[in-house]
Amino acid sequence: MPRQLFVTTALPYANGNFHIGHIMEYIQADIWVRFQRMQGNAVNFVGADDTHGAPIMIAAEKAGVTPEQFVANIAAGRKQYLDGFHISFDNWHSTHSPENTELARQIYRDLRDRADGSLIEVRTIEQFFDPAKNMFLPDRYIKGECPKCHAKDQYGDNCEVCGSVYAPTDLINPFSALSGAKPELKNSEHFFFKLSDPRCVEFLENWTQGPDETGKPRLQPEVANKIKEWFSVRTNPDGTTSEGLGDWDISRDAPYFGIEIPDAPGKYFYVWLDAPVGYLASLKNWFDKGGPKTKHGDTRSFDEYMAAADTEQYHFIGKDIVTFHTLFWPAMLKFSGRKTPNNVFVHGFLTVNNGEKMSKSRGTGLDPLKYLSLGMNAEWLRYYLAAKLSNRNEDIDFNADDFMLRVNSDLIGKFVNIASRAAGFLTKRFDGKLTSDFGTQGSALLAEIRGASGALAANFEAREYSKATREVMLLADKVNAYVDQNKPWDLAKDVANNEALHQVCSVLINAFDALSRYLAPVLPGLAQAVQSFVGRPMDTWAVAGDVQAIQPYQHLMQRVTPEQLDALFEPKEPLAPAEPAQAAPKKVAKSAPAAIPADPNAPGGEALAPTISIDDFAKIDLRIAKIVNCEAVEGSTKLLRLTLDVGEKNAEGQPTTRNVFSGIASMYKPEELVGQLTVLVANLAPRKMKFGMSEGMVMAASHADEGANPGIYILNPWPGAQPGMRIH
Ligand SMILES: [Zn+2]
Repeated sequence: MPRQLFVTTALPYANGNFHIGHIMEYIQADIWVRFQRMQGNAVNFVGADDTHGAPIMIAAEKAGVTPEQFVANIAAGRKQYLDGFHISFDNWHSTHSPENTELARQIYRDLRDRADGSLIEVRTIEQFFDPAKNMFLPDRYIKGECPKCHAKDQYGDNCEVCGSVYAPTDLINPFSALSGAKPELKNSEHFFFKLSDPRCVEFLENWTQGPDETGKPRLQPEVANKIKEWFSVRTNPDGTTSEGLGDWDISRDAPYFGIEIPDAPGKYFYVWLDAPVGYLASLKNWFDKGGPKTKHGDTRSFDEYMAAADTEQYHFIGKDIVTFHTLFWPAMLKFSGRKTPNNVFVHGFLTVNNGEKMSKSRGTGLDPLKYLSLGMNAEWLRYYLAAKLSNRNEDIDFNADDFMLRVNSDLIGKFVNIASRAAGFLTKRFDGKLTSDFGTQGSALLAEIRGASGALAANFEAREYSKATREVMLLADKVNAYVDQNKPWDLAKDVANNEALHQVCSVLINAFDALSRYLAPVLPGLAQAVQSFVGRPMDTWAVAGDVQAIQPYQHLMQRVTPEQLDALFEPKEPLAPAEPAQAAPKKVAKSAPAAIPADPNAPGGEALAPTISIDDFAKIDLRIAKIVNCEAVEGSTKLLRLTLDVGEKNAEGQPTTRNVFSGIASMYKPEELVGQLTVLVANLAPRKMKFGMSEGMVMAASHADEGANPGIYILNPWPGAQPGMRIH
């Protein structure tokens, strides 16, 4: 019986680009979703930008744009990450949307107008107000002297010097971080969701501590235990008192970028009230587009789908937002008369290279867009994270050496190479046809591999990806032992052994087929290539029978190189132009070509890259570009700044150009190039360089050994080519 699943990841706050922590969560959820789809279940997997609140309002003001424009700019940058890492969201939406406004207001009204007594209460509270900005100040926008240690310039909620936690009103000589003005205490009416109401407390204790709909413990044990502490009234070891669940302040005063509260002019929902409603808003938007898959055909409305007993709802989140998702969100749904989530799956943080905590502000760590721009395969990262992720709420570490070992030795050495060891013999000797006579040893091996299907499915279902990948690698070890015992390369030396050779190679391809399917949720791109290779589906968990024939083998995956990892963790170039006199010589990171060994005897000084399919080539979008302007780059002897016309227009129909940096200053004077046509890699991810953003790459030829054969030559099409034409 197929299941009907509604799956989300946490909504990213739209004040910046994705960092690697977001990508890890999306990969974790995407693996689960792809596995569920392979099981034949009907999945709706949605995300959205979380757009409201004071930080975005203030950031937009600083940037000189409206908050709407600010979040639209952030939203426009999302796709390159999601596509780049194969994240298969069905829909991506925004909390700044009509659907979210309507749903948040309706949930609020339902909480307020309950027949058995309202769960919304209005109270007057005293709050700091900035008389210069004419607005109430969030805690983080009030600064002053710490009341405990007297450190200056501390935030309104806690001291970064001595660690004390206090209220903003405790600060000595407080001032507004926005205007510098001395804040005034003013009364304001705030709206509270009465979480301390016995109805809420009873429900939440049951929901968080009790079993789920199937009778099993709902939350991860470490998460449930943590939450348990929040319910009890008690004295803590440090002498402070816990008062149990407190009521939740859900309103903010104008000016605020958010959703106005019904019947309360000038009052807005606190961003965390409408953020999780964005899950529903994105799903509703998906329904309105006619997209959703349900197991009942396409006739169900959004409301029917959400009310259906057989719709299962799951949220993947990080450990920092557990309170919102295990207390506020289920209570909001429950007491507004809606179905509650089936579960919330909590993961830990990703640290990079020996536990250095990911920090956006310091700019350290692993930049996902840089990863892609270096030509690193997204599936390496998907596999590596899968090999480390379990269903427990614990931090995992990205370690560069471990990454290289797991990708090159396990993923490629043990698994991908199985196919290449057999494919050549089958194509050359047996016209690509396989036999289903596997011999005793081969049959036993295949029976073991195919018999692991159920246990592996259980691991994916339970989000135990590290167990699943370990199991697949153990099976791959057995396949490789079979190869070493049967030595197809020896069998191939004598045609008398043809039958044995055919048998061994057929066993290998069938083993590879099964292992590829087990890893398909983790490696969707590879699975697609294997599907063409073995000629049978990789998007279904169970496929009966044997592989009948193969297509000629195409190289499936490159190894990761130390140069790529070095380049990935090279400190970021400062964005502001550096003083040329002090600027260190820039190390030019070679990306894709680094994977290809230099060879003085090969054409152009490097061996040909592995064969690719026409589909691989089609991924590269090459366009004719007209160089409408070209200038030298101050502070760089290598780069020229090109302004390119690729025939593109903006939403208003106005022609637009691209800014591209190219390392050709040694060969060309800027004025020589203006007016010329050339060739642009038009769909390369934009790359932030020291001197600005480069939106594509101009193609140029050079010898691998630049020292002995200097010179770099840009391409120039024959007359007649027009800007924007694609090169096929
Ligand atoms: Zn202090």
